[in-house]
Amino acid sequence: MTRPIDLTGKRFGRLVAIKPVGNDKHGSKQWLCECDCGNTAIVVSSSLTKGNTRSCGCIASEKIVARNYRHGLRRTRLYHIHQGMKQRCGNPSHSSYKDYGAKGVKVCDEWKDFEKFYAWAMANGYTESMTIDRIDNSHGYSPDNCRWVSAFDQASNKKNNHNVTWNGETHTLAEWSRITGIRSELLRYRLRRGMDLNLVFKK
Ligand SMILES: [Zn+2]
Repeated sequence: MTRPIDLTGKRFGRLVAIKPVGNDKHGSKQWLCECDCGNTAIVVSSSLTKGNTRSCGCIASEKIVARNYRHGLRRTRLYHIHQGMKQRCGNPSHSSYKDYGAKGVKVCDEWKDFEKFYAWAMANGYTESMTIDRIDNSHGYSPDNCRWVSAFDQASNKKNNHNVTWNGETHTLAEWSRITGIRSELLRYRLRRGMDLNLVFKK
């Protein structure tokens, strides 16, 4: 018969074994452990020795927090895209209203609700490097007329050849040139190279 291993004082990831605290309901030895974060946990000794348990649970919680934080960032960028879309279609004092709202470009009723727009974006391949593209520029913003495209796809799409969307604003290269003060030849050159849009429009 093997002697139970003494784990007292031994470290397993963030956990340090303090003392044995009997068996769990399957008869496995358990140890009271102290975690670096200040919590205590009761862990089966084999989970410690095999490396299956390396914290009181705080490592897993931190991963969830990090994931939610990234999720939050995505939401933030999407929120700006959503706001920009609503503003240029619905706010006559917005600088781009004349090219959108004034020309009858609308945001569909469903997408006036950010949560619904967000759900569509996530289900349709949205990533941080993409912009929203209207497939038919004579129609508005709705699930059947929109898609997510990378800046490069958008610039090389014949139909939208001269339209580039950046920071939720869509203009022709000539308009972008006027707005940014960068020569349109230079903008076109940068777009062809597939540069990040923030760099394309960098003075
Ligand atoms: Zn912990």
